[in-house]
Amino acid sequence: MSVEQKINSLRDELREHNYNYYVLDNPTISDYDFDIKLKTLQSLEEAHPEFYDANSPTLRVGGEVTKNFNTVVHEYRMYSLDNSYSKDDLLDWEKRIKKMIDGEVNYTCELKYDGASISLTYENGKLLRAVTRGDGTQGDDVTANIKTIKTVPLQLKGDFPKKFDIRGEIVLPFEGFNKMNEERLEVGEEPYRNPRNTASGSLKLQDSAEVAKRPLECLLYNITGANLGFDTQFESLKKARQMGFKVPEASKLVGSIDAVLEFVEYWDVHRHDLPYETDGVVIKVNSLQQQDELGFTSKAPRWAMAYKFKAEQVSTRLNEITYQVGRTGAITPVANLEPVELAGTTVKRASLHNADQIEKLDIRVGDEVYVEKGGEIIPKIIAVDLSKRPESSLPTTYISHCPECQTELIRQEGDAKHYCPNYNGCNPQIIGRIQHYISRKAMDIEGLGGETVALLVNEGLISNYSDLYTLTKEEVLPLERMAEKSAENLINGIAASKQIPFERVLFAIGIRFVGETVAKKLAKHYKSSDAIAQASIEDLVSVDEIGGRIAESVVEFFSSEENKAIVEKLKTYGLQLELSAEKLANQTDKLKGLSIVVSGVFETVSRTELKKLIEDNGGKVSSSISSKTNFLVAGAKMGPSKRTKAETLGVLIISESDFLSKLN
Ligand code: AMP
Ligand code: ZN
Repeated sequence: MSVEQKINSLRDELREHNYNYYVLDNPTISDYDFDIKLKTLQSLEEAHPEFYDANSPTLRVGGEVTKNFNTVVHEYRMYSLDNSYSKDDLLDWEKRIKKMIDGEVNYTCELKYDGASISLTYENGKLLRAVTRGDGTQGDDVTANIKTIKTVPLQLKGDFPKKFDIRGEIVLPFEGFNKMNEERLEVGEEPYRNPRNTASGSLKLQDSAEVAKRPLECLLYNITGANLGFDTQFESLKKARQMGFKVPEASKLVGSIDAVLEFVEYWDVHRHDLPYETDGVVIKVNSLQQQDELGFTSKAPRWAMAYKFKAEQVSTRLNEITYQVGRTGAITPVANLEPVELAGTTVKRASLHNADQIEKLDIRVGDEVYVEKGGEIIPKIIAVDLSKRPESSLPTTYISHCPECQTELIRQEGDAKHYCPNYNGCNPQIIGRIQHYISRKAMDIEGLGGETVALLVNEGLISNYSDLYTLTKEEVLPLERMAEKSAENLINGIAASKQIPFERVLFAIGIRFVGETVAKKLAKHYKSSDAIAQASIEDLVSVDEIGGRIAESVVEFFSSEENKAIVEKLKTYGLQLELSAEKLANQTDKLKGLSIVVSGVFETVSRTELKKLIEDNGGKVSSSISSKTNFLVAGAKMGPSKRTKAETLGVLIISESDFLSKLN
């Protein structure tokens, strides 16, 4: 086989595996083997740039940076949809249709996905470009970003029209959205509000490698073009599936408005089981010829209609507004409500987000407010029932001082939130920071939990994490629920944390925006906390993956005398504030990019050592098996459920000795 043939056959093979994995959700190869094939293709492509293909599966990881998105005129306009809210609305619509066309009318019912609309143009089976809806006439060219979304085929399968546009929605499934938010909270960033805005924001990120990291999906629902080779909407969906697109299965062909309503009622209940957000149903005249006859109004097709699900809503009394102080000092106002049933749960609280939100809706204590559960996880107040406002009601004045430490709050330019600036003297901030310090992913201190930390701070025994290291058994014994044994465990656990490697200490000390990954990057690059403390912003941003915001936050952290003193103390107590010499000598890239799970009991090395080995060689240790796992290192007494999971997902299982000999 020539090199070119080899490259092409690898590309075909990898495309097929991507399709099986992402579109069909049915992988037929282990991730490990997939990665090996991908790496082979990568090195062949590097050695033979003459066979470059902009649609190669190797380009899925992104890396292209777009500063300004080009404006592109849509060949076929992207219309909006008319909305209906009742059976009567739908019957009226049917009447209008029947006036314009003769014969029987059938409808397809589809779910209305709540994401960011996108138009993909394909020519000769290849993705030519991807454009946002924009104003409907023209949008932004976001091809580089869209290419990183694995459900978007770069090369079509089977037979396909020569050139066409296909429209769909970029969505962010709940699971991925929640995971992104967990990671943001961990580094002290505000969580994203809802999946839709996050999905549409993702399309306009400048660095496509960032987009590649987000678990976005592309769901398709409409093909537009000439000589398409099908006559109905329902057939077109089937055809799109055959070409390799992800088209949700929840679409139905029906013959009457009554049947449409059945579909709506069914999905109004069952949509809660779907992995992503939907906000209604879209009903389309099935025959393309009839669609043609009906045409468009200035705004929307006459042959389609959206039917919005009712957002679940109730009204209740706002009893009190309280203010929470987070670990980063951010203030969140909380509405304390008269408990009320909403979408199957009892709601007692709703987030008010920030001062602007309260002012905009003019929310006051004593008001009867409407609460809605939409795409957001926490219910929100959407309006006030002014007719029920008590005469004596007064506008809400936002707090000016921290409810915990009475320090005057600040609000920085461009920030929606107020902050308590009393970094080292405000209890929830102190407690939150120490809780983060001892948490599993940080110092993982055995025998010490979050509640005990709060007790220790409130009793005045500690005021920052370095104080943990001078605690004595005698001091902690009088604490609530503390016995001889537990006090001993606590002190031992704290002492043991002195062995925790530098990069985790760096994560644990809680520099804003420095998460686990960033901490590892910084540790690897600078090798000691002293070097990091001396780095300038310019120097920091030159490190791979360190952006301006992180750099500023690092510099700010180390410019505080108090922080410097605390870190200095950690050093005197014997914590690892630099990479160990052994570590420096042992680091390689052998396992770069691989995600590995370890399970069971090991003979020649301890579990911790094994994990360290993996990380020192550039691999990533993850705690649970998923389809993203490259392989599982299995020791003795591994749980049977882990094995079954690995087997069903096709994750390679290797023994301790195999792994160690492979590494050497
Ligand atoms: P609206 O933005 O409320 O005018 O609704 C129109 C938008 O609904 C379109 O631009 C699409 O992005 C979106 N949409 C979601 N699902 C569908 C679907 N199955 N068919 C057509 N449009 C859909
Ligand atoms: Zn405070």
